[in-house]
Amino acid sequence: MRPNLVIIVTAAFTTCCVTACMTTPVSGRKALNIMPESEEIAMGESAYKDVLKKEKISHDSRLNAIVTRVGKRIAAVANKPEYQWQFVVIDSEVQNAFCLPGGKIAVYRGIIPITKNEAGLATVMAHEVTHALARHGGQRITQNMELSLGMGIIQALLLRPGENDTAADQQKRQMIMAGLGAGATVGIVLPFSRGDEAEADEVGQILMARAGYDPEESIRFWDRFSEATKGQSPPAFLSDHPSSPSRAQDLRDRLPTAKTEYERAPQHYGLGDAF
Ligand SMILES: [Zn+2]
Repeated sequence: MRPNLVIIVTAAFTTCCVTACMTTPVSGRKALNIMPESEEIAMGESAYKDVLKKEKISHDSRLNAIVTRVGKRIAAVANKPEYQWQFVVIDSEVQNAFCLPGGKIAVYRGIIPITKNEAGLATVMAHEVTHALARHGGQRITQNMELSLGMGIIQALLLRPGENDTAADQQKRQMIMAGLGAGATVGIVLPFSRGDEAEADEVGQILMARAGYDPEESIRFWDRFSEATKGQSPPAFLSDHPSSPSRAQDLRDRLPTAKTEYERAPQHYGLGDAF
């Protein structure tokens, strides 16, 4: 390689690493993400508007109050003042939930009976919030779509949806929504990696504990989920949140750390209300 080229390539690599490497809150892991967080949040807002248009929203006041109460407690410990948190219940049997960048959380009615109580719901919501905080959606788009689509096209497609979108444009918009986390809405399964899942479980367990919910319920929730979804292949939640065989054991192993966080929390709700 000619010296000038070496300098240019090295400079480009250095710039890329300085701007694209990010550190995940709580776990402190490093990850590659070329998407600026402000863009990711704007895309999350846009995708959320699409979700509200496409899905049937539940007006069950009790259910909405529960989801909002648990969501606000998790949001309070997420240390993300730039997020405009919003919570919605989708009136569907689908057993799923997601949190888009920017703090837009959707819980499908179908997963509520399995959560059983506020701590079970906190397990799911804190897991989803971690995907957003750790910016797993932006990383998925970086890995899967950036090279083929180009950043400019991604922004144009999501931020300026047009009446004249072609079928191919719409398909790309749906892929981006799936990348951000709203795959269930557009019927596209884009699984998080096992590494992202492990991180969402680990940080989620800490967040629910800091929010005042007994982190031991996370282990019981996953047991109930496995039992309730036996025979479904794969259950909706697991289709984009793939489980590892060691999920329950990993949560058990980390429980002492989460319990310490729970003891330090200013409020203790235990399991919260049962439903
Ligand atoms: Zn997940």
